[in-house]
Parts: sequence; structure tokens; C-alpha cells
Amino acid sequence: MITAVLPTYARIDLEFERGEGCWLVTTDGRRFLDFTAGIAVNVLGHAHPYLVEALSAQAHKLWHISNLFRIEGGERLAERLKAVTFADTMFFTNSGAEALECAIKMARKYQYASGRPAKNRIITFEGAFHGRTLATIAAGGNPKYLEGFGPDLPGFDQVPFGNLDAVRGAITDETGAILVEPIQGEGGVRVPPAGFLKGLRALCDEKGLLLVLDEVQCGVGRTGKLFAHEWAGITPDIMAVAKGIGGGFPVGVCLATEEAAKGMTLGTHGSTYGGNPLAMAVGNAVLDVVLAEGFLDRVNELSMRLVQRLAELKDRHPAMIAEVRGQGLLLGLKMNVPSGDVVTAFREEGLLAPGASDNVVRLLPPLILSEEEMGLAVDKIDRALSRLEEAMALPSVKGAAE
Ligand SMILES: *Cc1c(COP(=O)(O)O)cnc(C)c1O
Repeated sequence: MITAVLPTYARIDLEFERGEGCWLVTTDGRRFLDFTAGIAVNVLGHAHPYLVEALSAQAHKLWHISNLFRIEGGERLAERLKAVTFADTMFFTNSGAEALECAIKMARKYQYASGRPAKNRIITFEGAFHGRTLATIAAGGNPKYLEGFGPDLPGFDQVPFGNLDAVRGAITDETGAILVEPIQGEGGVRVPPAGFLKGLRALCDEKGLLLVLDEVQCGVGRTGKLFAHEWAGITPDIMAVAKGIGGGFPVGVCLATEEAAKGMTLGTHGSTYGGNPLAMAVGNAVLDVVLAEGFLDRVNELSMRLVQRLAELKDRHPAMIAEVRGQGLLLGLKMNVPSGDVVTAFREEGLLAPGASDNVVRLLPPLILSEEEMGLAVDKIDRALSRLEEAMALPSVKGAAE
């Protein structure tokens, strides 16, 4: 018999009662160090007092009024994001996929409003993930997510990630935009070669295309900058953000320059819930913390030490870890053994980490991770890998940490 909740997820049989910072506690009192963080969502961990206060204060005042009225929290959050990004304007949503839907509509509408309606195709990348709506599964191009849901939404042309020549070769008279994750998350924490984003920006400028970034996973401090594209020294025309911006409350946003947004006039887009007062109160509170002096510096310092420790683990477990990759606290361990077994072994040691494509285990701790918690996580990873080596009769290099 079918489960009451549609069985589209292979759920791990753990029942959590509460969260405390970087920890999740089960109903029977077991504590797990949470390096899943709701898949890069809980940037400030669980039950962060400042977020709890912001949400409950708003809950006592006003939950929902609809976008038929002005929403002060949304205007404030928009002004603040505008002040710290390339954007002149933005549309709030409830999820990443909706932010991407808005981005895709806006890109098409921009070319239409510019008198070039035929330029309605968007170049996307192999290994991409943009969400699970009809448009975003077409944009992502993953056959697993498309199968049986046809007819596929047309308008996307896929090329290999990181290959500028392939992008150039795929541009036709019908191309209107390029959509890319600065670092692919679900695709396996894949970092493109240096110069790739800069190259895409230059191509877009040369050919009159819009550069659309999907920073749903890599944005909001995750890589140690507020947005990942800052590392590349470029700005996009449109950017989809979600996950971290709500810190666990469903919030997404599609940001744009005034020029890119010129087709999105009165009545062209909407959402009942998008940007409602509860969401905006939390979004503003997340920004308060992430933009506070020194917060991102600490993420970068912590990341440097964690990457160093993970590199040591790679040396100690060469039969296990093939590569340590990523930026900031969007990190991945590319494994030589099935990543699913590694995820399970980590969990048995009390560390929760999600898998990804390309046989990668992701490490996505809350950005508030302490030095001590980082050390605990490294110990758990070390023990889990040693146990796996024993179980699989693989060699390990015994080091000082034994
Ligand atoms: C999670 C994710 C999405 C989809 O976000 P939802 O909130 O699940 O709709 C889109 N793009 C990227 C890069 C993501 O990681």
C-alpha cells in the first residue's frame, strides 16, 4: 500500500525531535552533527535564537496579507540585497525552483521586449540542477528527472560544464541567455576551471546574451563570499537565490539588473505567498547575521582549516578519498568507494552528510560551525573511513591521529 506521503524520497529512518545549533537530536536522545544542514539551507544552524526571535515576533503581528499590499519587510530586504549585490530589483519566491522559473521567464521576456523574440533559447550545463518543476527539470537536463514527464519543455541547449569552447559553439541566433551554477552542488560540488565565469560573462556581452546564475545552493555566505560569483570578479544579469537566504524558512528570490528586468512589467508575474511577512522577517534576520562584521571572514578561516584537515584525511585514506573539492563550506569528498556507503558510515559515527552526483559526499555544515565541532566532524570522518577500510579490506595509512 502506498505511504500517505508520496514515496518519492528514500527517507533515512531517523526521527528528530529538535535541533541545537549544528546538532540534531532524535526522539530517543541520540545526537548527530549536522553537515547536511537541510541541504545547505540552515546557514545559522537549528533554533538560532536571533532567527527564532525574528520569526516569533513577526508571528504575533502579521503572517500573510498577499502582494496586493505593500510588505515592509520585503521592501527592506530588497533594498538591503540591492545595496550589497549587482541587482536593481528582485522578486521573492518560496523556493529555489520558483526563483529559477522567474529567472527563465525574465530572460525570455527580456529578449522579447528588446525586439528579439526568436532569442528564447537558454544554454545550460551537464550535471546542472535547477529544481523539479517542468521548466527546471528541462533546464537541468538530467534524464532521471525528465523520464516519463514529457513532453519536455523546449528551449534549453546543454553543453559540458566548464567548457567555454562548447558554449561558444552552441550559441545560435536563437540563444538568449546562459544559465549556470557558479559551483555545481547536486552535480557533485563541481568547481569550474578558473576563468570560466569570466569567459561566460565576456561571451554574453559579446553576443547580447543574459548571464543567469543559479546561486540557490552556493549563495548566502556558503562559499565564504555573500555570493559565489564574487570570487570570479563578475556580476550576472539575473540570479536565483533560495536555500540559505531563509535559514530554514522557505524563501527564494530572483534578483536582476534594471535592464534585464525591463520586460517584467505590471501583471507579468506573481505569487500568492512569495515574500510574505513571515518569510521576509526571517530573511532580514539571516542577513543581519551573515552581513555582520567578520562573519564571512570566519567562514573562510574555518574553511581553510577544514580543507587542510580533509587533505590530511585524504593522505591517511588514499583508497577512500580521491579528491577534496569545493569552496568555503560547500565542500565535497570525491570517493574511490561508493559514496552511499560512506554516507551511511558517517551517519553510524553520528555525522549527517548528503551525497551528490559524481560519487561525492557533500560537507555542508551550518556556517556557525565552531572550531571544536569541526574537529569532532574530522574525527568522525576518520573513524568512519577506517571502519570502511577494515570492512572492505582496503589499506589505510596509519598516522599520528590514531
Ligand atoms: C536546491 C536547488 C534548486 C531547487 O531549489 P528548491 O527550493 O528545491 O526548489 C535549484 N538550484 C540549485 C543549484 C539547488 O541546489
